[in-house]
Amino acid sequence: MAQWLDTTVVNRTDWNDHLFSLRFSCTEFPQFKAGQFTKIGIEHDGKIISRPYSLVSGPDENGLEIIAVPVEDGSLSPKLHKLQIGEPLKIMSPATGFLILDEVPKSRDLWLMATGTGVGPFLSILATEQVWHNYENIVLVYGARYEDDLAYKELIATWSKQYPDKFHFVPIVSRESMADRLHGRIPLLLKTSLIQQQVGLDIHADHSQVMLCGNPAMIEEATQTLIELGLSKHLRRSPGQISLERYW
Ligand SMILES: Cc1cc2nc3c(=O)[nH]c(=O)nc-3n(C[C@H](O)[C@H](O)[C@H](O)COP(=O)(O)OP(=O)(O)OC[C@H]3O[C@@H](n4cnc5c(N)ncnc54)[C@H](O)[C@@H]3O)c2cc1C
Repeated sequence: MAQWLDTTVVNRTDWNDHLFSLRFSCTEFPQFKAGQFTKIGIEHDGKIISRPYSLVSGPDENGLEIIAVPVEDGSLSPKLHKLQIGEPLKIMSPATGFLILDEVPKSRDLWLMATGTGVGPFLSILATEQVWHNYENIVLVYGARYEDDLAYKELIATWSKQYPDKFHFVPIVSRESMADRLHGRIPLLLKTSLIQQQVGLDIHADHSQVMLCGNPAMIEEATQTLIELGLSKHLRRSPGQISLERYW
């Protein structure tokens, strides 16, 4: 049964002045699957204000972590942005959601495509042994506006080092030009095959599964491009190659 658990912030990381991660310990939180989300809440004027957040941490880690941005005039995210170590918050038990590997059909390659905070569930998935065992190639395509909006680069670099032949990281920034970075938006860079060329892999219904998470416009346009490449949305009753989660 779903219930609120009490926890406190044990760590926070400020990637820049708006992008931040919060870590909390909650030993009673039940086992979750990498890629799932849960509700995070704060008590305010006797009520709990809550919103869903994906878990960034791996299921076997001590502690739970989320990444977020304060949305202008948002009800909860600006309050989360102000939380300091030791301050209380609530977490809904258990986690839920279907952006998980168990829901993705077997394939040779797995493409994880995220913008902004949408990278969270994919970092959790990459923290599992299951993903490295299941796929020949794993590609993380991570788009953000500016270079300093790309979080967890050190963590991602550990996978590049550990799995140099299997793991391909494609960071993309849309609002500044950087040497050795693709520049632009994910859907167009897929359409023009620049992402595929950088990785040296094609995207094909026979051997690719794609998971998309983040900004709804990116998801919609990337889905359209992938459909043009011959892929289809994955549904339990009609297996395909595109699995997705929209944040709003
Ligand atoms: C399944 C699921 C998982 C989610 N996981 C995350 C997560 O891991 N990290 C995260 O930051 N958010 C995540 N969200 C979004 C989150 O639940 C909130 O909507 C967001 O933090 C804004 O809440 P708020 O109360 O401050 O704003 P509200 O008052 O609820 O205003 C919501 C509006 O804010 C905008 N918005 C929502 N999320 C974002 C965002 N991430 N970036 C920019 N604009 C946004 C949209 O225009 C939306 O209509 C997730 C949502 C869903 C449905």
